[in-house]
Formats: sequence, structure tokens, C-alpha cells
Amino acid sequence: MQVERKKVGIVSLGCPKALVDSERIITSLRSEGYEITPTYDGADVVLVNTCGFLNSAREESLEAIGEALNENGRVIVTGCLGTEAQLIEEKYPDVLAITGPHQYEAVLEEIHKYVPPTKNPFLDLIPESGIRLTPRHYAYLKISEGCNNSCSFCIIPQLRGKLVSRSASMVLHEAEALAKAGVKELLVISQDTSAYGVDIKYEESRWKNRTVKAKFFDLCSELGQLGIWVRLHYVYPYPHVDEVIPLMAEGAVLPYLDIPFQHASPKILKSMRRPAAQSKQLEQLTQWRRLCPELCIRSTFIVGFPGETDEDFEELLDWLKAARLNRVGCFKYENVPGAVANSLPDPVAEEVKEERYHRLMQTQQQISAELLAEKIGKKVDVIVDEVDAEGAIARSVWDAPEIDGSVFINGDTNCQPGDILSVLVTRADAYDLWGEVNK
Ligand code: SF4
Repeated sequence: MQVERKKVGIVSLGCPKALVDSERIITSLRSEGYEITPTYDGADVVLVNTCGFLNSAREESLEAIGEALNENGRVIVTGCLGTEAQLIEEKYPDVLAITGPHQYEAVLEEIHKYVPPTKNPFLDLIPESGIRLTPRHYAYLKISEGCNNSCSFCIIPQLRGKLVSRSASMVLHEAEALAKAGVKELLVISQDTSAYGVDIKYEESRWKNRTVKAKFFDLCSELGQLGIWVRLHYVYPYPHVDEVIPLMAEGAVLPYLDIPFQHASPKILKSMRRPAAQSKQLEQLTQWRRLCPELCIRSTFIVGFPGETDEDFEELLDWLKAARLNRVGCFKYENVPGAVANSLPDPVAEEVKEERYHRLMQTQQQISAELLAEKIGKKVDVIVDEVDAEGAIARSVWDAPEIDGSVFINGDTNCQPGDILSVLVTRADAYDLWGEVNK
């Protein structure tokens, strides 16, 4: 019997957390018999998962809604910008429905309302791992939603609410299912990964034949036993983060910490209301590197925050030179509608932000080039992302997908995405490495 399946077009914008939301929605839709299509053409409805964090992201989300309306006409909006329903309704009165972030049930209800599912018990047996939008060999693992902090430039806690952690057993079941489905690298994400479990008082749950606490170290330790790469994102340098460094030194978890420091001037950090901002960060980095010499620290910084003087910025540059972080991203401060920082005095002129941005990136470029040059002649484990006629593009243990560098293996096509290889590094520039497979 041929059953015509209803088609839902999906446009997913925003950060990895939004991507995970889209994956969950798709998993549910597939299990209900919907067909997911990446095109507008022939879709019975288009779901636009939006981002509302920065002005530029809001613009992009609004444009995506407009395009979906033009191309298809039947559009449901979800995600962070969904919290500003009035704005969307005013600009696009023809949008069918609007829901906010993590409102999976509400999104599904709206889709059912406008495009009722086709009932067929034999359709769409969903794989245990769900449906993923990332390539097969890596997957994001979201361990909590929301955030208990109140950084003055951020509206995520308003958009997504307070921290809500998933139980350890739920996270571990998902992680194991992903590993069984062929995932070779898990990217652990949340708004504040090191705060995991605080809201549920480190609740214990049963996993295999043991009890596991919903605690940062305990979860990392269990994930480290799955036999695949585990990479930690959005970690704040709380004292208990020290405990996971030995797991990295042992190889259970990748020697990689993504810590959004955002600034180094105590005055600016205070004004940003950053969690775990403390004066001993350089000492902490030294201690971590002593325990795990291979440790790679990635971070992001904001320049041009209101009140940032030349001295504050110089302090940041000096700190960067002393910290010698491996990977750094930089944003020029911009007001986010609804953020407390918008009302701070002494805004920084756009041209000053621009100049500071370039100076920071140049400073870091030199540090990065020096650190990568030290890898030449050494062996490093890499995971293959792509293979083409010229060779393979891979990432080292120090490179997260999408945001960090690559390792180019010229001429070697005898491998496939997801393979983990040992590579001898032969060349480096400021961001990437080149090497040959170490046979
Ligand atoms: S830690 Fe700060 S920047 Fe990150 S989500 Fe929470 S409030 Fe926003």
C-alpha cells in the first residue's frame, strides 16, 4: 500500500543548541510518519527554527521567515526569536504559528493542526539514535537547558529560563545510542556545562549496573568509557573543573576545553557579571597544563564592551599573551534587545571596536602560529571529516568542528569520514596543520 506522507520543510538557524532542538523535532516528526525535506518545494508546511541572540542573527531569522513565506507560504516559526511573537506577527502576519525555544510539544501540536499526520503503523521506524543534522561521525549531546547566570550582555536566561539538567542516565543512554549508531565524537554542549546537575542537586540515577550522579566529573568520567571522542564545550573555570583534567591526561576525554572567558580586565568582567571570573585564571591554566601538557584551550572574547578603556583593552592583550590560548574567537560588542548591558554608560565607538578586534586577532594569530609550529614533527590523532580526490580533511584532538582549524592530509584518500588516524605533522600555519598518515 502506497501511503502519501506529509512533508515538513525545515530551516534551522542559530547555535549548536538550536541545532539539537531541530534534531529533536525532526526525530519526533519522523516517528509520526512525516517526511522531512530540505527544500520549500512540495513541503506542506515549513518550520523555521530561529535565533534571536544578536541583532545580526535576528535579521537573518526574519529574512529566513520572509523567504520561506515567499517560496512556500505556509510557515511555522519556533526557536529563540519566537519569544518575540509580536515582532514576527507585525512583519509577517501570514505566519501560521509561533512558538519559543524548546517548546517541542507546542511545535508538534501546531504542525498537527495545520498538517495532520498520516497514520500508518508500518511507517518510519526511528533509529535508536534519532535523526541528526550533523554528519554521521559526530553529534552534539545536550546535557542541560537554560542558565542560572545573569551576564549583562546576554538574554539567554530570559529566553531559555533557568538551568534544567537532564538526568545522568538519560544523557548516557543517548550518548550510548549515538555511539552504537556510528558516532565517533560527542560534543557536549549546554549554556554552562560545568554547572551540570546543580539544579537537580546532583541527582543519582541508574546506569548499567551502577548509580551515577548528575555531576560534571561523574558524567565526563562515564562518557569517557564509551570508547569514542568526548569534547567539552561552554565550560566555566569553576574549581571543580580541575577534576576533569586528569581524565584528559589519561585520554578518556579529549584534552580540549572551550571556556568563554570574554575578557580579562576585572572591571569589565564585573560589569559583564561573568560567572567564575577570578584573578587566578592564569595560575589555573598553568596548573592544568602541568597536569595535561596536551591540553588545548579555546575561548571567545568581546571587545568594545561599554566602559572598556584603552587600559582595559591593553590588559586583555597582555593577558592573552601570557595565557597563550590555542584557539580564540572574538566578537565586537553589540547591544542585544532586552539585555542589561544596553543601559551601561560609555559606549565604545564602532571604529574603536573595529580596531581592537583586529589588534586582538593579530595578537592571537601570532600566538596560534607559534603554538601550531611546535606540532611539526609530532604525531597527532585526527578524525577524518571529508575525503576527496586530493586527500582528506581531518581535525585533530585540538579542533572542534565548525569553529577550529583543520588537518589536511594530502594525497591520502584511503580513508573515510569518521576514521581516526595517527598523523605526522609536516607543516603548520596560523590555524591549520598539514601532515601524512603515520603508517
Ligand atoms: S553563562 Fe552568561 S552568556 Fe552564557 S548563557 Fe548564561 S547568562 Fe548567557
